[in-house]
Amino acid sequence: MKITVAIDGPAAAGKSTVAKKVAEIKGYTYIDTGAMYRAFTWYCMEKGVDCQNEAACVALIPEVHIKLRPGHIVLCNDRDISKEIREPRVSGNVSYIASYKDIRLFLVDQQREMAGKHSVIMDGRDIGTYVLPNADVKIFQIASVETRAIRRYDENISKGIPCTLEEIEEDVRKRDYIDSHRDFAPLKPAADSILLDTSFMSVDEVVEAVIEIIDKKVAEKEANNA
Ligand code: C5P
Repeated sequence: MKITVAIDGPAAAGKSTVAKKVAEIKGYTYIDTGAMYRAFTWYCMEKGVDCQNEAACVALIPEVHIKLRPGHIVLCNDRDISKEIREPRVSGNVSYIASYKDIRLFLVDQQREMAGKHSVIMDGRDIGTYVLPNADVKIFQIASVETRAIRRYDENISKGIPCTLEEIEEDVRKRDYIDSHRDFAPLKPAADSILLDTSFMSVDEVVEAVIEIIDKKVAEKEANNA
């Protein structure tokens, strides 16, 4: 049976860590939509275009070809930019790019196409509300700003991405503000989503909780189809 799982929530809430593990355990395809907005942002910066200039960024749409490959590889025009898109300079600009409707529509089309083929677990900001409004499972994953900043700081340091805790906390607050105040498809929980506060949970506990929610939904779906 084909299952679609949407995990939304604010920056650095641990969505991708959890989604990757759940995807592995359940055999679903993991789709990191944030990586697509990051890749578009990287391309604008590479071209020397100001990310706050909407018209100039939108004009680049025809030249941007983003591919997500197994192993969490992100390609932009066939160049592997998996590491570059995690750099603080990209994080600092991505919310501007993600607020431009034309760029969202361009990327959402591709996200929906990917979800059409397989059982997927997709993480982002607008998956349950806009990209996949009929997802079987919708989770809104949150944690306190302080917890999220520490998690992201530890993750960056372990990947060799230089940063300070203060700059990460500021980035997380700024992105949350822009992401939840944009006009088109802002960050907000879908009415039918399940809220999961992970502030005091380990990754394994969150993974277990998500799998429990999925298994319950799958059983309901099977019973309805029987
Ligand atoms: O998930 P991640 O933190 O990598 O996402 C980077 C940025 O991409 C977010 O801060 C947000 O601005 C944007 N984004 C979005 N909608 C999504 C996924 C990400 O607006 N579905």
